Amino acid sequence: MSHEPPMLALGEAKLPLFFGVDVGGTNIKIGLLDDQGKTLAFEQIATNEAEGPEQAIQRTCETCWRLVDAVGADRNSVVRAGLGSPGPMCLERGLLLNPVNLPNWHNLKIKDSLAQSLGLEVSFVNDANAAAYGEFWVGTGQQYNSMALFTLGTGVGGGLIVHGTLINGLNSFGSETGHIVVDSRPDARLCIWGGGRGHLEAYASASAVTARTSERILAGEKSTLSSILDAGKAITSKLVYEAALEGDGLSLEIIDETAFYLGVGVTSTIHAIDPGIVVLGGAMDFGGRDCKIGQRFLKGITDEFQRRTFPNVAAGTKIDFATLGGAAGHIGAAGIAHSDYHNQHDA
Ligand SMILES: [Zn+2]
Repeated sequence: MSHEPPMLALGEAKLPLFFGVDVGGTNIKIGLLDDQGKTLAFEQIATNEAEGPEQAIQRTCETCWRLVDAVGADRNSVVRAGLGSPGPMCLERGLLLNPVNLPNWHNLKIKDSLAQSLGLEVSFVNDANAAAYGEFWVGTGQQYNSMALFTLGTGVGGGLIVHGTLINGLNSFGSETGHIVVDSRPDARLCIWGGGRGHLEAYASASAVTARTSERILAGEKSTLSSILDAGKAITSKLVYEAALEGDGLSLEIIDETAFYLGVGVTSTIHAIDPGIVVLGGAMDFGGRDCKIGQRFLKGITDEFQRRTFPNVAAGTKIDFATLGGAAGHIGAAGIAHSDYHNQHDA
């Protein structure tokens, strides 16, 4: 689900310009954006993770300036870059610690490396927080002052923006709503990283959806997906979605339960910051708002939240799908650069 935003012509752009870079284990997404969050150019390059970070940063830098030249912009009109990457990280030191999907990039001073290559100041941010900021700047949250994002992928990422400020936290662990506790029982499910019991991610991530489905089939429950396991193949959240579309009872139950746990996690998050809008991003959207399964999923979350909150909060809070898809990360990284730049330069 990686649709590209419409490209803005240079003549319609509002200066200055910003780079947005979203580093992932497989690809690096690079956008050139204007002062209002419109995209002028975009390119995706391979991370080639195993070759180490130096040449990847070099290629990122070359791609950035190639985009500027391709649209005919003045290189001096680009004033800052935003860089999003998977955690864990230390934002203060600009340091990538030990992200699982970048094993050859551990303890990397990624912020300084990119800043030196580009010759620009760089704003460094967690990738899920970048995605949240993208949705806040020009996506589903753009009419709001505060916003909470949950990204449903392999794990559950999060991003919290309160009165325009992204919550990064003291340990670069702010906004990690995927790890809030939704099940306090001693035998609650474990998070992907192994240590966190009862965290939202252990129930509502794509990995959790596939694990929960497989466990129930192996325990003897009927499902059209049992043939997948019989064939020695793995169940995916996409297969659960497709089976639910065809009316498979177990798959529908799994999706409803996922909505229940998200409803619990969403309620706690809303009660902490009262953002007015909660956005669901990531690849696992069960078809999104244009699909009956996506609508059922969203309704399940919303119903659970409304059962658990106060009437005025229920009435004043919207829960909706994200709009930027896979572009949210690099757009949001540029957005953070935009915010930092204007905080420095606008007196
Ligand atoms: Zn966790």
